[in-house]
Amino acid sequence: MALRKILIYPDPFLRKKCAPVEGIDGEVLKLLDDMAETMYGARGVGLAASQIGVDKRVVVIDISPRNIEADEEEGEEEEGEEKTEYEGPGLIELINPEIISSVGQVIAEEACLSIPGFTSDVRRKRRVVIEAYNREGQLMEIEASELLARVFQHEIDHLDGVLFIDRLSRLKRELIKRKIEKVLGKEEKRYAVM
Ligand code: ZN
Repeated sequence: MALRKILIYPDPFLRKKCAPVEGIDGEVLKLLDDMAETMYGARGVGLAASQIGVDKRVVVIDISPRNIEADEEEGEEEEGEEKTEYEGPGLIELINPEIISSVGQVIAEEACLSIPGFTSDVRRKRRVVIEAYNREGQLMEIEASELLARVFQHEIDHLDGVLFIDRLSRLKRELIKRKIEKVLGKEEKRYAVM
């Protein structure tokens, strides 16, 4: 396994619509392993292949509290304190994931490893059902709500070159983009080529 470099906004690769995986070979399995290691290393709950500059529809997710709380509770924990932890679903690997149905709406705060230091409330579907292949090549169907549903939507958006800031109302989007651009730089304007 190897840590990969996470691309940071405004890297143009983050705007790429990724290509479907045609066959699950050693390269894809290594990609899954590297992505999991990179996600855990960055203390993220999800990572899409485009975020490490790979043009493949591959996503890894782990919303286990252990993974999330490691960051939030840093420094607060008493030494020697033991916690009983709910393990959650653990690592979820998705190849060619697709949302096949969704219902409801919910607003909650989101962040992104590729836009470090910025968060915003984002409206998402409340529940989603997704279809994806696992590393064994089996088609899985997963129904999710709450955080997992949100992470599914956030990561699948990445595979289409969509970032959470694109999901904000125009006013909020322009405000946060201006702040982000001051810190991280400006996205290049894309002109239509005719
Ligand atoms: Zn993200």
